[in-house]
Amino acid sequence: MEGKLVIFSAPSGAGKTTIVKHLLAEHPDKISFSISASTRQPRTGEIDGKDYYFISKEEFLHRVAKKEFIEFEEVYSGTFYGTLRAEVDRIWATGKHVIFDIDVEGGLHLKRKFEDRALAVFVQPPSLDVLTQRLRGRGTDSEEKLRERVVKAEKELGYAERFDVILHNDDLEKACTEAERLLLDFLSKT
Ligand code: ADP
Ligand code: 5GP
Repeated sequence: MEGKLVIFSAPSGAGKTTIVKHLLAEHPDKISFSISASTRQPRTGEIDGKDYYFISKEEFLHRVAKKEFIEFEEVYSGTFYGTLRAEVDRIWATGKHVIFDIDVEGGLHLKRKFEDRALAVFVQPPSLDVLTQRLRGRGTDSEEKLRERVVKAEKELGYAERFDVILHNDDLEKACTEAERLLLDFLSKT
C-alpha cells in the first residue's frame, strides 16, 4: 500500500482539530495523526508525544539544521511548528495513512511536495467574526495571542481556493459527515 496524506488546514479557530479528532475516532484502522513538533507551551490537558512533541526552540532549530523536517514554519512570532519526516514514515510503516492538522502555508507546502498522494482540505468558518467568537470560546489564548491569531486568519482566508476542496464548517455535524465522505473517497482511489 502506498501511504497517503490527508491534510486539514484552516485559520486557527475554524474547527480543524475538532473535525480531525472526529475522523480519527471513526477510522482508527485507516488513519493516524501526524504529531507535529512545536516550541509553544502545552495547554492544560495536552500531552507531550500525543498532541505535539513539545521541544525547546534550541532543539527545534538544531533539528532544522539536520534537515529532519518535511516542512516547518514560524507560525506565530517566535513559535515554531513542523512536521518530522520520521513521524510520517513511522505512520506509513504501520500500514495507515497520515492525517494532518496544520496551518495554511504548511498544508499548501505538503500538497506541492506530495501532489496526488495528498488531499488538501481547507476548513472554512462562516465568517471572521464567528471564528473570533470560537477562539474566544475555546478560552486557550490571551487577548493579545487571540488578536495575533485573528490578524493571521484574515490573510489565510484568502488562500482557500488553492486547496483541493473547501469544507464549510458552519454546522459541525454536517462538516464532520462531509469530511468523512471526502476522506473515504480519497482513500478508495488507486
Ligand atoms: P482549530 O483547530 O481550527 O484551531 P478547533 O477545532 O480548536 O479549531 O475549534 C475552535 C473552537 O470552535 C473549539 O472550541 C470548537 O469546539 C469550536 N467549534 C468548532 N466547530 C464548530 C462549529 N461548527 N460550531 C460551533 N463551534 C465550533
Ligand atoms: P495551535 O497552537 O493552535 O495548536 O496551532 C497553531 C497553528 O499551527 C495551527 O494552525 C496548527 O494547525 C498549526 N500547526 C500545527 N502543527 C503544524 C506543523 O507541523 N506545521 C505547520 N506549518 N503548522 C502547524
